[in-house]
Amino acid sequence: MLPRFFASLTTSRSSISSYLGQICHQPSNPYQKYLRHIYDDILSPYGKVHSVRVPFHEHKEMEISDYFSALGYVLTYTTATASFTQLLHRLSQYAEWCRVSSAVLETNTPTVVQMLFQVPSEPDLIANARYGYGPSKLKFSLASSVSAGKGGGREDVRENRIRTLESVWSHPLVYPTPVQQAHASAGIGFERNGSRVEPSAELFGTPWGHCGEGVSFPSMHQSISLGRPLGTLALSVKAMTCVIPGTDTIPVCAIPALTSLTDIVEILKVAGAMRPMCLNCLYLRNTAGGSIQDHAVKFSAFEDTNIG
Ligand SMILES: [Zn+2]
Repeated sequence: MLPRFFASLTTSRSSISSYLGQICHQPSNPYQKYLRHIYDDILSPYGKVHSVRVPFHEHKEMEISDYFSALGYVLTYTTATASFTQLLHRLSQYAEWCRVSSAVLETNTPTVVQMLFQVPSEPDLIANARYGYGPSKLKFSLASSVSAGKGGGREDVRENRIRTLESVWSHPLVYPTPVQQAHASAGIGFERNGSRVEPSAELFGTPWGHCGEGVSFPSMHQSISLGRPLGTLALSVKAMTCVIPGTDTIPVCAIPALTSLTDIVEILKVAGAMRPMCLNCLYLRNTAGGSIQDHAVKFSAFEDTNIG
């Protein structure tokens, strides 16, 4: 278990880098070679290379090109085994690491952190709800939406993610994206008579490569296309790291102490932290024929007594 280091850290660039350096250089970790690569080239204060290729589950050469994706990779591969409840702890921790890191790096926080995971079996979910930890060892991938960070700018990171997606997605991406098409249909960015306000204006709406799914979906592309049961959950970093209005609770501070799935979901609901998949990510899921279940939708529909 990783220490709750970041939450109590008196933050500085060197102290965060020192901590990440330690966990990326654990000799016992079978992914040490790649974690060191990620650390040396992206996370360390002296990293100069802004894009590295590392295996990420089912993708043999995932291109990681921004600090926050690198953080997600490190958290994924320094968690040896995890039950479903522990995965939610990791996702919450990832949100906090993004907040602290962005403050230290003086850059924008990614708005959303996201996790793709093997869906636990029903008996495991029930065990989680009652006891906090089921017996399963679930595969998962953490990634965030694109934020302007160290290395290339937003466009570079998105382009890298698009290349990664296109290397494994058999169905072509469409332009404008489904989100941009929806905005255009709603008249956003257009005059009332349908003509563009400015022909050169950037299309409104989310472009390809922006969402964390641009990393996590390729990381399990075989499982997706084979229709294996997978789940996704995306959380707002801001909602997770700020006090819930009318309470003294900060979700990322409260969740590590919770072992009940029911209690964790209740905090996520009250905080308004869960974000359903956008139209772009639904397009990716549907064109791959996958059966990825959006847990932002699933959890929001649960009654308090109906978890599991
Ligand atoms: Zn999306």
